[in-house]
Amino acid sequence: MRVEVDRQRCVGAGMCALTAPEMFDQDEHDGRVVLLVADPAASAHDEVREAAELCPAEAIRLRSD
Ligand code: SF4
Repeated sequence: MRVEVDRQRCVGAGMCALTAPEMFDQDEHDGRVVLLVADPAASAHDEVREAAELCPAEAIRLRSD
């Protein structure tokens, strides 16, 4: 799995960082998403998928390898 985030779409809702705090953070200045891990381990895939589904701006894209 590859993770991509679109910071232009992000509205800083923070659901990703709450749902998967080891994968996503929020920029301390603009509140927008900061991707911490672009190629998460298999054990984290469910968490990353949940974060992507919860994002209100559809700013998290997942690609299968
Ligand atoms: S949940 Fe979506 S809109 Fe909210 S901070 Fe994360 S990427 Fe941005």
